[in-house]
Amino acid sequence: MSHPIIPVTKTTNPRLPHFKMETLQFGKHFTDHMLMADYENGEWKNVVIKPYAPFEVDPASAVLHYGQTIFEGIKAYKNSKDEVVIFRPDQNFIRFNVSANRMQMPAVPEWLFMEGIKQLIALDKDWIPSLPDHSLYIRPFMIATDPFLGVRPSTTYKFMILLGPSGPYFSAPMKIVIEEKYTRAAPGGVGYAKNGGNYGGSLYPVELAKKKGFDQILWTDASEHKYVEEVGVMNVMFVIDGKVITPSLERGTVLKGVTRDSAIILLRDMGYVVEERNLSVDEIVEAHKKGLLQEVFGVGTAAVVSFIINLTYQNYSMDFDLDKLKVAPSLKQHLNDIRVGNIPDKHNWLEKLLS
Ligand SMILES: *Cc1c(COP(=O)(O)O)cnc(C)c1O
Repeated sequence: MSHPIIPVTKTTNPRLPHFKMETLQFGKHFTDHMLMADYENGEWKNVVIKPYAPFEVDPASAVLHYGQTIFEGIKAYKNSKDEVVIFRPDQNFIRFNVSANRMQMPAVPEWLFMEGIKQLIALDKDWIPSLPDHSLYIRPFMIATDPFLGVRPSTTYKFMILLGPSGPYFSAPMKIVIEEKYTRAAPGGVGYAKNGGNYGGSLYPVELAKKKGFDQILWTDASEHKYVEEVGVMNVMFVIDGKVITPSLERGTVLKGVTRDSAIILLRDMGYVVEERNLSVDEIVEAHKKGLLQEVFGVGTAAVVSFIINLTYQNYSMDFDLDKLKVAPSLKQHLNDIRVGNIPDKHNWLEKLLS
């Protein structure tokens, strides 16, 4: 396959020399360059890498009014040999076009997504922090740019890639409440797509939960609030009587996480039984009453594995002792060992950046 070289305009005013890698917050800092491409008349064109900067959009742009926008989140790391590796970007490419399809947006060609990421990282690779639990967060996204207020699919789009050096995401263990009123996703809806509106719509219920002292919500199904789906913007896993259980993807209301998929494969490698199925709140509470509910944790690119120390359902509070967690910390360690190169990458998950 041919790998077109993307034209680059380098910044004349690099911020990197003055940048402190020690106190990084997730999502707050961006590297010196970004990628931009336009979709017009049925094709992708004007692909460029240029200095990171604000850009102009017409105030009537469809994305600003009707939310035709999708994104991805991927991480690159420096391994112990100081090589740059990207974790399973092929999976994000596939999912990006699944999201595009659901939002009636054009597919992005593989070379644009993959070469765009690689050439941008090659240019900004000195921005990748080498500190433990740090990474380079990669944010590809697409927006609808037709300046037209009629509700119809845009005919023009912008595809962009941003890079951000990142520290640990949710580092503190979380207190979670089981949501019984609001929903993140409904069958037939857009829950399986990484489109902007899903996140905008989750802010209000999460804020209500925060006012009650929780960090996040455990989302349940839209019709009965009986089956668990996701925790915040992460997939969720339960350990009951030694078995790992995670909600299945069947209803289209659970996002098909790359970390979820990697965790299922690794946990099976580690000898655990992993079930993808419907899991009801009743079953969780029942298991807790019998002393069989051992762990609950979130999995996603940003935080990788997030520990949960409390899960509350109505007035019933379930605590988890951090010192007694086994599955979540070992999964986290295992994923980390693969990415830094301490153990072999036997599933071929790391895409090495050739320099
Ligand atoms: C991105 C995301 C996830 C996690 O997916 P990863 O590919 O593991 O990062 C889970 N749930 C939602 C709602 C998400 O947006």
